[in-house]
Amino acid sequence: MRSALKRTTNRGLLLGLGFFLCLSLGSVSAQELSENDDPEFQRVAPFQVFDNLYYVGAKWVSAWLLETDQGLILFDTLYGDLTDLVIDGIRELGFDPNDIRYVVVTHAHYDHIGGAKRMQDEFGAVVLMTQEDWQMVEEDPIYREYPKPRRHLNVTDNGTVNLGRTGLRFVKTPGHTVGVASTRFTVYDDGFPFQAFMFGGVGLNFSGVERTEMYINSVKRLQQMTDIEVNIPNHAASGEVFERYELLKERQEGQPHPFIDPEGYYAWLDGLLLAAEAKLAEEQAAAGQ
Ligand SMILES: [Zn+2]
Repeated sequence: MRSALKRTTNRGLLLGLGFFLCLSLGSVSAQELSENDDPEFQRVAPFQVFDNLYYVGAKWVSAWLLETDQGLILFDTLYGDLTDLVIDGIRELGFDPNDIRYVVVTHAHYDHIGGAKRMQDEFGAVVLMTQEDWQMVEEDPIYREYPKPRRHLNVTDNGTVNLGRTGLRFVKTPGHTVGVASTRFTVYDDGFPFQAFMFGGVGLNFSGVERTEMYINSVKRLQQMTDIEVNIPNHAASGEVFERYELLKERQEGQPHPFIDPEGYYAWLDGLLLAAEAKLAEEQAAAGQ
């Protein structure tokens, strides 16, 4: 089991890097884009990963549901028809979307924020995002239009939100957008606590020396938080969510939980840093620096 996971980790890292490079070169095909938007193609049966954490996202972009003793916290909302997958998934798992108290939007790109207004209007959820990314909502959207949510709460660096006995701690990790919100929280496996982290903006599909330097500083800061054990990505492929879930389904009594993989998490951060440094070198060369 250990070696099986190692193989997927390495392959996933390479696939992940390929994906970021593709994005940064703008070479995502038209077919991939229409498959991304197709709710039937994108449908994933929702599933439980930890005692208090569930996957309610699509194939290419993720949404996660954190259960607390005082209601639900949703991370990201998808967009367009894909938001129905989130809402259906919450119901299929036996929860009520009216119990969503907070929606944490990792950053203001349509694939994460697109359903936020629906969560406000239909379920009365409170939306959290950084001030910088709330500002983006006021401006022209970068990739696509989406229904603009009303400004609710700001996520601040090192800020916390508590719901019942559950606490979230935020880390601002700019780069992918200027106000990416990352979150750390505790997940439980059969009652045992583990430190989980959601890096809210991973892709290198942005440009400019200054932004790339921001991104590099963000990754370096995450490397210094040395107690993270579980990677909860906001795009499934960047944390091998489905591969790990396959292993989780086969897990026998006494075996380790396949999402608990601190080594894999820090190796992944190392890979992100390398890719970002290569991008920075290119951008500096192009700028004649
Ligand atoms: Zn994005």
